[in-house]
Amino acid sequence: MIEDEFRTVCSYALVGYEGLETLRIHGIEPSPIGPRVRWEAPGMPAERERILSGGGFVSLGPPSGPMMLDLLSRTLAARWAHGTPRCPANWRNSLQQRFPKLFSDEDPCVGPGWSWLFEAGAVALRERGVPRNFTTQQTKEKFGSARWYWSAEESCEYTKNVISTVENLSAFICEDCGRPGRIRRGGWAKCRCDVHASGKAAR
Ligand SMILES: [Zn+2]
Repeated sequence: MIEDEFRTVCSYALVGYEGLETLRIHGIEPSPIGPRVRWEAPGMPAERERILSGGGFVSLGPPSGPMMLDLLSRTLAARWAHGTPRCPANWRNSLQQRFPKLFSDEDPCVGPGWSWLFEAGAVALRERGVPRNFTTQQTKEKFGSARWYWSAEESCEYTKNVISTVENLSAFICEDCGRPGRIRRGGWAKCRCDVHASGKAAR
């Protein structure tokens, strides 16, 4: 089940990624945060693409394949940590208590299906050290995916990458329940699994 979810989200989220054909899944192994999908993708560049535009301005491409795979594996580990996934009603409060440097007030101000995604991002950030005076300015859903606005006193490539990956992956995880999802066509743009899509087709 966890492996099926991993494969399904990959099939949605990694379309067009260089080296995707080298992705191999080797099974599931226990870890302190829950069952981790073991994978390798030797042909996927680890670095995020830098796009040079006119005037020498450099912008960053989407998160790298390995970053996406790592955070997805962490997300599913948190989701399946206690057997069949069930998001407790107090999940937001629990994240605020576990990660007080990262979340306060209403954050993460998104649906419960993304709770494990934000938890995975928070665990990844804490492992490397949260940048000095990190502040989450706002979290929300917009056009079907998550937004996580933040500031810090020091610039930190890793933090930037983790947070972009959380935002990017959210477009492929149901905001209601955490199953693989797609942004749906119709009057509203929300990321939903087939069960929660109310019959709306994926974009
Ligand atoms: Zn759902």
